[in-house]
Amino acid sequence: MLRPRNALKVLAASCVLLWIVDGFLIIRAESPRPALSPDAGLDASAGSRSGTRYAGAIHVHSTYSDGGGTVADIVRAGQRTGLDFVVLTDHDTLQPRFDGHHGYHDGLLLIVGEEVNTSAGHLLALGVGRDVDQRGPLGLPALVREISDAGGLSIAAHPTGRRPWTDWTLEEMDGLELLNADSEWRDDGVLELARALVFMPFLPDGVFNSLIDRPDEAIRLWTHRALRQPVTVIGSVDAHERIPLWGERHLSFPTYERLFGLIRTYVITDTELTGDAEIDEAMLVDAIRRGSCYLVLEGYEPAPAFSFELIRGAIRTPMGSSVGFQEGERIHVTAPSSGPVRIRLYRNELPLIETEGHELFVEVPGPGVYHAEVYQQRGTLLRGERHRLWIISNAIRVE
Ligand SMILES: [Zn+2]
Ligand SMILES: [Zn+2]
Repeated sequence: MLRPRNALKVLAASCVLLWIVDGFLIIRAESPRPALSPDAGLDASAGSRSGTRYAGAIHVHSTYSDGGGTVADIVRAGQRTGLDFVVLTDHDTLQPRFDGHHGYHDGLLLIVGEEVNTSAGHLLALGVGRDVDQRGPLGLPALVREISDAGGLSIAAHPTGRRPWTDWTLEEMDGLELLNADSEWRDDGVLELARALVFMPFLPDGVFNSLIDRPDEAIRLWTHRALRQPVTVIGSVDAHERIPLWGERHLSFPTYERLFGLIRTYVITDTELTGDAEIDEAMLVDAIRRGSCYLVLEGYEPAPAFSFELIRGAIRTPMGSSVGFQEGERIHVTAPSSGPVRIRLYRNELPLIETEGHELFVEVPGPGVYHAEVYQQRGTLLRGERHRLWIISNAIRVE
C-alpha cells in the first residue's frame, strides 16, 4: 500500500508526465508540412489563377529604432528565407531610405516605410517617400490625408494588441494588421507559454506555429469597417530580433529568419514586377491598398497558389474588389496543399459554409462582406483532430 504522501507524489508525477506527453503530441502536430511541388494540385484551378504573386514580410524594425539587427542582417534574413520583399518600418524615421537602403538587394526588394506613433496608436505608413508625423493643429486626420495624398498606404498596426488602435473614424485609413507576430504570444495562457518554453529547444517550428491563433477581435473590427468601405488587411511580423535584458544587453530572439518564415503576406500584382525599385514599390503598395493580397501562416506550409474570386459569367473578380449583387454569381476558393485542409467562407464575419477539401464553389446568397479562411487539419493522439488557421483572404464586398 502507498502511504498518502507517496500517493500524492505519484499522482503529481503522473500529471506532469501526462502534460508533457500531451504537449509533445500537440506541438508535433503543429510541425511544417512539405511545400506542394509547383505542378501538383493546380490542375483544374490553375486556369483561374491570375496575376503574379510575391511573398513578403511586412513590419520590421532595425537598429534605426528598437530592432536588434542592422538593415544588412534583415536583408540577409529575407534572402535566406526566399522572400520577394521586406517592408522595413522603424519607429518615426525614414532614415534608412535616405541612407540608400531602399531598393533591390540581389533579387530582394527592401521597401522602407515607417511606423508612426500617433494619438490613436501605431500607424504603418508605406510608399510616402518622405518623413511624416502627427504635428500640426489638424493632428491625426491630417497625417492620414497626407499619406493618402502622397499615394501612400496607412495601416493600423497591432489594432488589438498591447498598444491597440483606437480611432476607426478616419475614412482615408487603408487597412489594418490582422496578425502581428509580436502580439500573438501575449494573449496565450500561462500553461501554453510554459509548454512553448519546454519544447522550444526540441520542436521550435511547432512551438512558434502553436502560438498563433485566429485573430477573432481584429477580424470583427475589419468586417464591421468593410460593411461601409473597402478595407485591406495584412499579416505582419513586427520583427525586432531583440528582447531587452539589462543595461545595453539584449537577447537576439526571435530571429528575423524565424519570423520571416512564420507569417507572410502574399501580394498579387496585375503584371510582373519590373526590377525598378520605385515602380515596384508603387505596384506592391497599390496592390495591398486594393486588398489584392492574403495572409499565410507560412510556418505550416507556403501557399503560393491560394485564390479567392467571385465569378460572374466569364468575368472573374479578385479579392479586394467591391461589386454589385447579381443572381447567379458564385464564389470560388482554391487552397492547394500537400495535406488535408478545410475551407470556410464567411459572410459579415459569420461562417456561411465550410468544406473539407482544396476547393469551394458556392452561389452568392446576397449582399455582404465575404472572406475565406483555410484551416489545416492536424491529428493528435489524445485530442483528436485540430483545425489550425493557415490562410486568411482579403474581402470581396458584394453591395
Ligand atoms: Zn508598434
Ligand atoms: Zn512595430
